[in-house]
Amino acid sequence: MTKTLTGRVALVTGASSGIGEAAAIALAQAGADIAISARRADRLEVLKAKIEALGVKVLALPGDVVDEKIATEAVEKTVAHFGKLDILVNSAGIMHMGTTEGTDLAEFRRVMDVNLLGTVYTCKAAIAPMKAQGRGDIINISSQAGRKTGPMVGAYSASKHALNAMSDSMRQEVGGHGIRVCVLMPGATTTEVATSISDPNFRAAIQTHVTKDGAVAASEIADAIVFIVSQPQRVNIDLISIRPTIDTSP
Ligand code: NDP
Repeated sequence: MTKTLTGRVALVTGASSGIGEAAAIALAQAGADIAISARRADRLEVLKAKIEALGVKVLALPGDVVDEKIATEAVEKTVAHFGKLDILVNSAGIMHMGTTEGTDLAEFRRVMDVNLLGTVYTCKAAIAPMKAQGRGDIINISSQAGRKTGPMVGAYSASKHALNAMSDSMRQEVGGHGIRVCVLMPGATTTEVATSISDPNFRAAIQTHVTKDGAVAASEIADAIVFIVSQPQRVNIDLISIRPTIDTSP
């Protein structure tokens, strides 16, 4: 593969599994140095060794994005270590399913904290260094639940709709500084996302949904991320929806 991203530095949140892990690998394969973040430090160490074997530099930054200080420091430590930050991929996220009437409000808040505010923290911290460089890429992993909704997904869908709105507002603020912002909305993608669902029945249903024949592979979402950041500087792919071909829903 041509190393189109050699010399660039990426920070990927949610890198301990799924789309974030695949994104970190794909960006490294394209030549970027990588900072990886998530709560499970053991997983990050395994990924670090895997990425180092690709011949790029890796910084593991274990931590919880719900903690504003830790999320902000992930950006600051990346910049301090590598001297810059070119690409920020926010893939840390959790799912929640349940009715509005029966919702556990602590879980509702948790979904907003991880999926929305966790991303706000890293974006807020990344803008100043990216402005100073005169360029940067921020890719926020949203969902098909960010463009439509249905019963039982109120919290998750609200977090992703809000993430889309925040991201596009930010895009309009920072584009003049050379910073590109993209919202990426995957459909069913085979990852560990179902494990974050507390209700066992919903967890099993989503597990089946994301592992069904024809579900997208995390590496295929990652390939799209490399494509997005590889565009000529004047081109900002601001919104991208990727879902299984077999998904014929609106
Ligand atoms: P995974 O569960 O495989 O990955 C989620 C990642 O988020 C893990 O690395 C997890 O790491 C991290 N994470 C969760 N909570 C926190 C936290 N509080 N602080 C730091 N990191 C955290 O699922 P996916 O890869 O599928 O999910 C990635 C994104 O894709 C999510 O935003 C999800 O909503 C979105 N998405 C996924 C779809 C799918 O079908 N898979 C479809 C649409 C959207 P750790 O537990 O180690 O902290």
